[in-house]
Amino acid sequence: MYKMNTALSADAVDFIDDAKLEAMVAGLKEDPEAVRKVIAKSLRKEALSVEETAVLLGAESPELVEEIFEAARTLKRDVYGNRIVFFAPLYVGNYCTNNCKYCGFRSSLHTAVRHTLSDEELVREVEALEDLGHKRLILVYGESPKYDPEFIAHTVRKTYATKKGNGEIRRVNINAAPLDEEGFRIIKEAGIGTYQIFQETYHKKTYAEWHPANTMKGNYMWRLNAFDRAFRAGIDDMGLGVLFGLYDWRFDVLAMVTHALYLQNKFGVGPHTLSFPRIKAAEGLDLNLKYQVSDEEYKRLVAILRLAVPYTGLIMTAREPAELRREVLAFGVSQIDAGTKLEIGGYQEKRDGDEQTLNREQFKVGDTRGLDEVIGEILEGGYIPSFCTSCYRLGRTGEHFMEYAIPGFIGKFCTPNAIMTLAEYLEDYASPETKAKGEALIAAEVNKLDGKLREEVLKRLEQVRSGKRDLYF
Ligand code: SAM
Ligand code: SF4
Repeated sequence: MYKMNTALSADAVDFIDDAKLEAMVAGLKEDPEAVRKVIAKSLRKEALSVEETAVLLGAESPELVEEIFEAARTLKRDVYGNRIVFFAPLYVGNYCTNNCKYCGFRSSLHTAVRHTLSDEELVREVEALEDLGHKRLILVYGESPKYDPEFIAHTVRKTYATKKGNGEIRRVNINAAPLDEEGFRIIKEAGIGTYQIFQETYHKKTYAEWHPANTMKGNYMWRLNAFDRAFRAGIDDMGLGVLFGLYDWRFDVLAMVTHALYLQNKFGVGPHTLSFPRIKAAEGLDLNLKYQVSDEEYKRLVAILRLAVPYTGLIMTAREPAELRREVLAFGVSQIDAGTKLEIGGYQEKRDGDEQTLNREQFKVGDTRGLDEVIGEILEGGYIPSFCTSCYRLGRTGEHFMEYAIPGFIGKFCTPNAIMTLAEYLEDYASPETKAKGEALIAAEVNKLDGKLREEVLKRLEQVRSGKRDLYF
């Protein structure tokens, strides 16, 4: 029977110097010349230092902020391409021993309806997601002895094994509590993709206010040190995150960049993704927060993160409303979810647009549209919706994950793979309107490919149309 070893790694360091970052935030001031220099560096796809990131945070005037937005759009357009990868969160269980004051799953919330999916329920949820067209899930768990590494590994295997028609899940990511090395090893063996752990806020005093000390999550260093343990256990695909609204967003942007650089320097591998959710309404939570992040600030923080960490994907969830998602997408977001249901068992039970019942869910969703509708809109915006999972399946992870680093990689692999997976989606799941839009976009995208690659893609598209699946470059 697995028992968690709660000792920190021998070389665990607290690399977040609160006083230093506080001083940087207090000293922020606008310097247009310096901002433009930093932007130029970023457009060369060079990672920014924490100090350079602070230069961007100092920009306040609308004109200079617009230059930052424009640089983020340029990076997205010219460097990362026009793909948007789709995923869905799947809540496996909401029992939780922690008491994070912002969360609808917190232990002190006695009105919360608690449930863990049985194997049969999990299979039905996965099938319901496959019926929508999803290929990539993130499984989400509360922190509880019920959800030990063996249980998590079991649910991952069950998810991969669940297939319906042409539906299958090709990549299972995880958002769960930090584990010890052995625990991470057990999960890794089940074939997970990214392991996400959000630090929530890196500001220690604020962290302590939101996460009571008598809980596991109250241990800041256990969480901060988690990716070191994960890396030692062989997990080289990590997702960092901050829950914006707990503390000054500028502090947490600097801290998240510090964390990314720390991992890069120590292990030669930076995070695969950054997440930047804003705190949303949850059962019994007063949203009148001192550090609530406005839409305008949110846009700035996404654009600045885009410029600061060139080799890292950015995830924007359906916590944000459709309007804002539309605008922020252009700043270099690489992954979004759609058709999201947070209620345990919610995919098989509810339909798009249904009202949420907060005592069953972690927080309130901002964009409640279904997957097909969001895909239709993305297509209209000229993006290629992608369900690609090929890098992970070909072992291109960690330092080998070169999507953004190798010149030409996106054109040679990512775009063709996005086209192939979109074609599968259109054949199997799309509404007639979305299918028509998708076919038009595919035709335009194929035309942009070089001769030999174009021929290969056209050949494979024919195969998809005649029923073949899972063809990737
Ligand atoms: N229980 C694990 C943990 O806390 O790390 C993993 C899952 S937790 C359900 C996933 C994330 O949801 C948390 O890390 C937190 O950032 C976010 N979250 C919690 N309450 C939220 C709220 N009211 N609004 C937005 N996001 C929230
Ligand atoms: Fe539990 Fe995670 Fe919610 Fe905290 S954020 S109460 S750890 S589910």
